Amino acid sequence: MKDLRETEETCLSIHRVSTGLGENEEEVRWTVKCPDSHHVVELDTCEGCPHLEHIQRGAAGPERLQCHPQVRPPAPPPSDAYEPLLSPLLEHTRVDELMTQDVYCVDEEVIAEELAELFATRKVSGVPVLDEDERLVGVVSRADLLRTADGEEDTPRLHPERAGATASELMNASPVVVREGTTVPQAAAVMAAARVHRVLVVSAEGKVVGVLSAMDVVRWVARKACYAV
Ligand code: SF4
Repeated sequence: MKDLRETEETCLSIHRVSTGLGENEEEVRWTVKCPDSHHVVELDTCEGCPHLEHIQRGAAGPERLQCHPQVRPPAPPPSDAYEPLLSPLLEHTRVDELMTQDVYCVDEEVIAEELAELFATRKVSGVPVLDEDERLVGVVSRADLLRTADGEEDTPRLHPERAGATASELMNASPVVVREGTTVPQAAAVMAAARVHRVLVVSAEGKVVGVLSAMDVVRWVARKACYAV
């Protein structure tokens, strides 16, 4: 159960906001974009929040925090509920063996027009957004950015109200992720609970190391049953 809980955590950047008050004085505030409320909240709020897991502090102050996102996978079944023939295979196969390692990512300053071009040229439904340390901070989805005009189903266009917005303004800051080393059943449980068809795989440092799709799992099951797919 501990492993599953770890896959639910979201790692968020803490931003420093300072205000000059006098000659040498400044008021410093620390803020976070909260995935629960979808608002920017002050760190004081997080410190009293039941979802808070950990605040990472550096020499210059708080840097990142980990808290539990909204998506919660169901409790795993009792061990005797597994199909006996599949159990050893399921228990020991990690997402690292199935995932696609080549994941196209963008930085926070990329604008909507560039993202629309990206979605037009690459067959991807979402693109991870990385901060300056190349750690995952969110995902921009194709569906959120583009719309399909009536009668033009094959030519989706940029939502007019999204024009000029940056990836950091457009992204979902609480993407569904699993840690590298997560087992295939755990990742499948997370995808089923979140009702998504793919999930990003991240390292302990929050870097994107791959993406696992439901089709990767389906294809793997078929190949293990000796079908040539
Ligand atoms: S700790 Fe609570 S208030 Fe802070 S970002 Fe996470 S969910 Fe939001």
